[in-house]
Amino acid sequence: MTSLKEMFQLSDRGAKDLKKGILACTLTNLSLILSVAVTVQIFIEVLKPLSGGEISWSRMWLLLAAGALSAVINFLCCKNDYRKTYVSCYTAAEDSRIRIAELVRKFPMSVFNDKDLTELTTNMMGDCASIEHSMSHIVPPLMANGISCTLICICIMLFDWRMGLSIFCTLPLSFLIILGSRKVQEKASRKQVDAKLKASEEEQEYLDGIKIIKSCHLDGEKYSSLNHALKALKQESIRMELGTSVFISVAQFVLQAGIGITVFVGVHLLTGGSITILPLLLSLVIVCRLYGPILTILTLLPMLFHTLVSTQRMRELASIPIMEGKADVPIENYEISFEDVSFAYNKEPVLENVTVKIPEGKITALVGPSGSGKSTMSRLIARFWDVNSGKITVGGVDVKTLDPEYLMGYMSFVFQDVILFNDTILNNIRIGNMDATDEQVIAAAKAACCDEFVQKLPDGYNTMLGENGSTLSGGERQRISIARALLKDAPIILLDEATASLDPENEVLIQEAISRLITGKTVLVIAHRLRTIVDADQIIVLENGHVAECGSHNELVERPGTYRKLYEIQTKSQKWAV
Ligand code: ADP
Repeated sequence: MTSLKEMFQLSDRGAKDLKKGILACTLTNLSLILSVAVTVQIFIEVLKPLSGGEISWSRMWLLLAAGALSAVINFLCCKNDYRKTYVSCYTAAEDSRIRIAELVRKFPMSVFNDKDLTELTTNMMGDCASIEHSMSHIVPPLMANGISCTLICICIMLFDWRMGLSIFCTLPLSFLIILGSRKVQEKASRKQVDAKLKASEEEQEYLDGIKIIKSCHLDGEKYSSLNHALKALKQESIRMELGTSVFISVAQFVLQAGIGITVFVGVHLLTGGSITILPLLLSLVIVCRLYGPILTILTLLPMLFHTLVSTQRMRELASIPIMEGKADVPIENYEISFEDVSFAYNKEPVLENVTVKIPEGKITALVGPSGSGKSTMSRLIARFWDVNSGKITVGGVDVKTLDPEYLMGYMSFVFQDVILFNDTILNNIRIGNMDATDEQVIAAAKAACCDEFVQKLPDGYNTMLGENGSTLSGGERQRISIARALLKDAPIILLDEATASLDPENEVLIQEAISRLITGKTVLVIAHRLRTIVDADQIIVLENGHVAECGSHNELVERPGTYRKLYEIQTKSQKWAV
């Protein structure tokens, strides 16, 4: 049987806390039985005159004192229950969210090809919230009610098995209705969860693309697809609620038929002289009191089924193999070598039998038509993906054997699409080296030619950038990313030259920043304008995932080939991009 830990994807601490929560909730339920027992005793005492006896007031006072004590015990149990279930469930949800964030960090990039960000966000926020809810409001009361009802059931059976049977005879059927409808309920839940995901995706796309939507007059079209997704979500939610509540209502109806059966059997036994009025009245009190928790179980079970759909996705996420490797292998030099490397994202090969060396401390440029595999080569060096065959080594060590985070410690990436966080400029640059002092961060910013535009911002380096720094220009963003790389001071630099046309001033500043960044490093630059790489130590020309040519600029322009053709075209037109 799946353990609670596995079922809800909990940490060790979370599983332990959940068990404590269940125990605390059971104690609260049992403490309620105490007050019911005292009430029953008072009831017996009050009814004594009916059978010719007399009320014993000393016993009555004692029972009232016991009633007060049971109220105090109940209060203490509730307090303990609150602490154990509510406080610990939020801690467990926090653990789950942190664990997913850590997992995501270690996933191979192929996972992000298959899953989009909305799905992962839903996993991290929505599914964790479902687990949070079930750990506080579903699992502990469900288990505790189950335990206390079973105990009461045993006691009643021992007290009078005939009355016991009449109280519980409808129970199996009502549970069968709920359990038997599980598949239908799960299907409805899954459809609702999918509709929720679709609606989140549409919302995200709508908000992300609001500028394009407005400029291209797509308001109606895009709005209608969002509207459609939201309507579908409404329908699936109603369908799910309706499906669930029909089964719950039928099960509750069947259970409550037990009250009539108990009255019928009790009166029959009373008139037959098999029992006296007192056990009959007691049975009626118990049946009314006990059906409350059982009705709660019948309502909570479908909610649990709904949560299990969310946890199923968390389990799937947790079962994705993460990229592992050693983090203690010293890398002696920074020569990068591709040895007969072949790679495909899906089925279509992107790189085939690539064998090249990127020498240490030199500048190697990668050129080739768009889609020839240049970015793929640099991603493979950083182990964003693993090669399908052959190997890539850094300083003679196969990158496949290295922990990706350890490997990244040796590399700096300067991408075209710079990701900026909703934080200050200072902290956005500090991402390159979290231990850097403010002075070091500012020095890197100055070296990357950021100072001049940062000084114009209202709070200088402490200016908040807003979501993804949308207020900065492409050139400014790129300079921030160079400042990060300067601060990191990694020995290997993987550079993707900007394709977007930059104004001459920005271009000069970026070139200046880049020359400071790459001095003395092993550099692989993906070049889109050949004139920027004429001085590179080595140029690799890629064509359809194959190395077509390799050499210095002078060597390559001298022989007839792809590079010479590209160079001639580019020198004729300054505007082209490869
Ligand atoms: P380049 O940098 O030379 O323009 P890329 O390395 O980006 O080329 O892409 C090479 C091929 O791989 C292209 O056909 C591209 O469509 C494909 N490709 C790139 N990234 C992915 C990805 N994440 N998933 C699937 N295919 C991809």
